[in-house]
Amino acid sequence: MTIDPDEKKYSHMSLPWKKIDTVLLDMDGTLLDLHFDNHFWLTHVPECYAEKHDLPHDEAHKHLMCRYTEVRGKLDWYCVDFWTKELSLDIEQLKHDIADKISIRPDVVDFLSWLNNNDKRVVLVTNAHPASLNLKMDKTNLHVHFDNIINAHDIGLAKENEGFWGKLQHVEPYDKAHTMLIDDNLEVLETAHEYGIEYCLGIQQPDSQGDEVSSEKFDVIDAFKEILP
Ligand SMILES: [Mg+2]
Repeated sequence: MTIDPDEKKYSHMSLPWKKIDTVLLDMDGTLLDLHFDNHFWLTHVPECYAEKHDLPHDEAHKHLMCRYTEVRGKLDWYCVDFWTKELSLDIEQLKHDIADKISIRPDVVDFLSWLNNNDKRVVLVTNAHPASLNLKMDKTNLHVHFDNIINAHDIGLAKENEGFWGKLQHVEPYDKAHTMLIDDNLEVLETAHEYGIEYCLGIQQPDSQGDEVSSEKFDVIDAFKEILP
């Protein structure tokens, strides 16, 4: 599918499912509500950091936002071990402490079941650190729907990196002309599209309590039922 800004809106009902044999899915913000992660990094971690280092809350918050900016989009940004060391906080434990906030986005289970029942290869492709991935699969049980689960930390590059999609072929061979990627991160869609993945879709509201995403270039969906036949 060629994505021309003027023509990017194709009818979801006519999505050519017969031509799509592999569906690559992101986790946070796509299958799961990004609110957990936003709350964790923007509220919970700054609070714990302020307490641990005996800082005023706004100072801790400001400091952390600067630190985040330095590594955003790199693998370290997603690395529990990196932040545990950098902030002297037990990040894995802190995630467990608020794990009841982890939630699945609407229609996800129906969508995954439909893919499973229609012989699509369903692959989770995430930048999330293994510790975070395991916690989320334990909480949601979504792992039963995937034919394979790929972690960017094993590939050695974040999905935002243009080399990622070629390296992915070594561990999960796929035909890019017959593959769909759904990911809430527009930078990730950009690198996948550049590589040649034919069907790239975004998510309209990755954080149920956050802003809507719009793209000139990629279609964004709200609920997965929009793209089911
Ligand atoms: Mg995401």
